[in-house]
Amino acid sequence: MKKDILSLSFEELQSQITAVGEEKFRAKQIFDWLHVKKITDFSEMSNISEQLRQFLTNYFCIKPLIIRKKLVSEYDYTVKYLYEMEDGETIETVLMRYRHANSLCVSTQAGCKMNCAFCASGANGFIRDLTPSEMLLQLYETERDSGKSASGDVSVGNLVLMGIGEPLDNFDNVIRFLELLSDKNGRNMSLRHVSLSTCGLADKIDALAELRLGLTLSVSLHAADNETRNKIMPVNFTFNIETLMSACRNYYEKTGRRISFEYALIKDLNDDEKAAEKLAALVKPLSAHVNLIPVNNVCKNGIYSPAKSPETSRIKAFHTWLTRNGVNATVRRTLGTDISAACGQLRSDN
Ligand code: SAH
Repeated sequence: MKKDILSLSFEELQSQITAVGEEKFRAKQIFDWLHVKKITDFSEMSNISEQLRQFLTNYFCIKPLIIRKKLVSEYDYTVKYLYEMEDGETIETVLMRYRHANSLCVSTQAGCKMNCAFCASGANGFIRDLTPSEMLLQLYETERDSGKSASGDVSVGNLVLMGIGEPLDNFDNVIRFLELLSDKNGRNMSLRHVSLSTCGLADKIDALAELRLGLTLSVSLHAADNETRNKIMPVNFTFNIETLMSACRNYYEKTGRRISFEYALIKDLNDDEKAAEKLAALVKPLSAHVNLIPVNNVCKNGIYSPAKSPETSRIKAFHTWLTRNGVNATVRRTLGTDISAACGQLRSDN
């Protein structure tokens, strides 16, 4: 089987090239074609000899990522892609346009095992992990496609691992993806511009802390007591709030990076003043930021989830309760609601 060249680190590519008698600097050229010029065929590598191009064609492949569906929001130009991978499986990628920079929401798995009650991602179960190249290609294809539009080239400045899947459940591939993304010979994106969101796999948060990558860690908390969290996030039976918060403390101490906590507000479940106080007590010692998300009512297997967002006045009140308790919080702007931009919605609708 041919090797997936986009998943190879620079060092690995270099050793493959020098093993067949090529000069080291050729690896740099090839890496540049793949990760900076984002070509899709070895024949486009015009400064590489015919012989080396033939070698690459014989032993390596550049995986395709095909646009199966593309939706552009009429409100805010958010673009949602449903991409098809080599084996026919689909994933979603969302391009969000902000005034200062464009942000890309990338998927890390096809499907999800975590089964959070309000999320559409796991509706059809878990299929498989994505390879590092399949994560990179979401960025490269989206930039390539948007570059064809009349509004000109769209370059992505921020990247969030908040699409379909649980990034820390695909740990090694995600770490390799981050290494490739930030490689100075390649895309060279600073990990300061990357956020990784997890439902709270505490053991993997510990492993991530050891790597001190400089990215922003987002933790999907959504409830500040175990009883409530158990109802909506099955992961809480494995890693309860105490275990999770202890991993978060360790992460903060080791990396010096403030954690951002995601809190999806669900009417009559986690949206009263008591919940706000409990939440504040958990996150304040970590000087953490809270991102409030009005829950998006998704349809799973034809059934609408019972999770509904509270009214705007309640969301504002919850924000005030947090602020009053000394917590730095924001309410997430909802983008692309007309194009099913919440996690897994497009994939599960198809
Ligand atoms: N598995 C990771 C990343 C994917 S989800 C995680 O759990 O963090 C990215 C964020 O969107 C998470 O905070 C998730 O809980 C939230 N989310 C998923 N479905 C949602 C919905 N219907 N409404 C609001 N937030 C949702």
